[in-house]
Amino acid sequence: MDLRTLWYLTLATLLVGATMTLWERRAAPLRSRELGFWAAGFFTLAAGCFVGLMRGYLPGNTGPALTNITMLLGYLIVLQGVVTIDRPYNLLWTAATLGAAAVVWAVGGLPMTDMFWHYVSALPIGIISGLTAITLQRSTALRGLRSKNLAVAVFAFHGAFYLARAILMPMAVAAFGREMLPFFAATTMLEGSLYAVAMPMALIALVREEYQVSLLERSRTDDLTGLTNRRGFFERGGDAVKIAKDQGIAISLLAFDLDHFKAINDRHGHAIGDRVLQAFADAATRAAGPEAVIARLGGEEFALLLTGKDIERAREIGELIACGFSENAQAIEALQSNPTVSIGVAEAKASTFELYALLDAADRALYRAKSLGRNRIEVAKANGISAAA
Ligand code: GH3
Ligand code: MG
Ligand code: MG
Repeated sequence: MDLRTLWYLTLATLLVGATMTLWERRAAPLRSRELGFWAAGFFTLAAGCFVGLMRGYLPGNTGPALTNITMLLGYLIVLQGVVTIDRPYNLLWTAATLGAAAVVWAVGGLPMTDMFWHYVSALPIGIISGLTAITLQRSTALRGLRSKNLAVAVFAFHGAFYLARAILMPMAVAAFGREMLPFFAATTMLEGSLYAVAMPMALIALVREEYQVSLLERSRTDDLTGLTNRRGFFERGGDAVKIAKDQGIAISLLAFDLDHFKAINDRHGHAIGDRVLQAFADAATRAAGPEAVIARLGGEEFALLLTGKDIERAREIGELIACGFSENAQAIEALQSNPTVSIGVAEAKASTFELYALLDAADRALYRAKSLGRNRIEVAKANGISAAA
């Protein structure tokens, strides 16, 4: 394999990867900083390849030193982009690492260029790539993303490859002589050319998946209240009901409808109406606990699905929400009277172990609450006929 061709190929691939990463910045505004760092890192690595190709023309033994330091800078900028995913990055680390590398090259590398170029220079690259893999693995922002595993694998493999090279290459040369050098050089450049493809692909895949997940999350969220919307309710609720059914645990559902809400809008305006909706959402979130699925089904209608809670417990939580709502609404000065809510509650039984049927039973109880004068909770009976609580 012709070594120079591999150097050119890696250089060109890095330039393409950097350009595509820059292009991606527009499509992923939330990660434009990170993509900017990565593109800069790939351009710097490409510059390192260029210096590497030209190192013979540089004075004294500065060629290998400059090549290695430029490459290190590229790796450090890529790491910087990965760190930035979760927290601000301290540039001092990059500066200190580069400064240390320059001193080590000046002191040891210039007199012992051969040893440094072939063996020592692989160590910091292995360490920085390993740190990049660890940082990705530990990232809280990327938790649960499939592409994260791919990116971790790419950086971990590259790191392991360089660490193994730093150990195996001197051993192989000691055992079999300097004829081993071209073999290691070609293997390194071959791995490098593949890495130059895999690294941008893995990072771009990561950013895309993260963006898709955030869009999906938004499509299930109600803008005004931050609660799950109707679509999210039927997705999450369907899952919760299925799990409860399989495990034989209780599951209850509360249906809410704010009383005379149109009158609140008419009297005080839409903006105050919106604040009332938020006051209700806040009260419901606080009373329901993290396990519950709480949704705004539309307008001033809400639903709360409680796994592991029987109808009595669900009723208590409904009362707690009504009280919390009343308290929250007191903070809205414009309101002359406190808004109230009507609630219907149902527990899943054999006949209603289906989210739609359960919602229907709770809804019928809710209508009964409305017809009995509002501002009250009505409990559905197993046969779907609601009864006064
Ligand atoms: P009831 O006690 O019988 O439930 O009477 P209601 O006035 O609450 O019921 P109705 O269904 O007549 O009115 C619901 C109102 O909710 C009408 C609509 O303008 C209002 N609404 C729906 N979505 C929003 C919203 O996002 N913000 C505000 N401010 N109002 C909304
Ligand atoms: Mg309504
Ligand atoms: Mg209403």
